[in-house]
Amino acid sequence: MNKPIIGILGNILITESGVFLGIEKSYVNSDYVESVLKGGGVPIILPVSSNEDVIESQIQNIDGLIISGGYDVNPLLYGEEPSQKLGITYPKIDDYYIKAVSIALKLKKPILGICKGMQLLNIVYGGTLYQDLSYNEESFIKHRQDTNPQEGTHTIEVFNESKLYKIVGKSVNGNSFHHQAVKDLGKGLKVSAKAKDGVIEAIESEDDYFVLGVQWHPELMTNNSEIMVKIFKKLVEESNK
Ligand code: MN
Repeated sequence: MNKPIIGILGNILITESGVFLGIEKSYVNSDYVESVLKGGGVPIILPVSSNEDVIESQIQNIDGLIISGGYDVNPLLYGEEPSQKLGITYPKIDDYYIKAVSIALKLKKPILGICKGMQLLNIVYGGTLYQDLSYNEESFIKHRQDTNPQEGTHTIEVFNESKLYKIVGKSVNGNSFHHQAVKDLGKGLKVSAKAKDGVIEAIESEDDYFVLGVQWHPELMTNNSEIMVKIFKKLVEESNK
């Protein structure tokens, strides 16, 4: 049986020293690759492109998609000017991600968005973000942990009747490496989990089509946590239909 091909949206790193100073590298952290393998899929890294035909072909050739984490999302994409606490953005990457995700949605490819990937998913559905969690007056939890990335540091309460609940159950400890969060939810999405300060930690499509976004980084936890592996197994299973 052929294993499903899981495309992971690539990121860009700028070389900071040596003869290739300033040259861009296409990459993803290997934890995404390893987690897809643990989930039973075949990982493929999809490099950033501005050519719509190329992007369409990239997405046609995969069975499921992971939107990986990375820089802050360009706020102009959700109708806001940059606030003072906005971090680094890379508009070329965002433009690619938006096109790739829109095509994946059109082709009904199963999608898992991770961290920035979840935030971007919300924007494609028409939602908005807090550009920094300090702009959310209710938030009191440390969402940028200094603890080992493989360790969960805050509680994530999962709502009944969600796709996520069927995968991980009603509560998990998640790691946390974000300073932005979902503000207004996009149309067609529902919240599937929150932290105890009300910060949205997971979103999913309202219908049966598998679209899931998680604010934490399960791919960094799959060495020690079978529950986190289940998230990737589920994506692979959905991509096999
Ligand atoms: Mn968090």
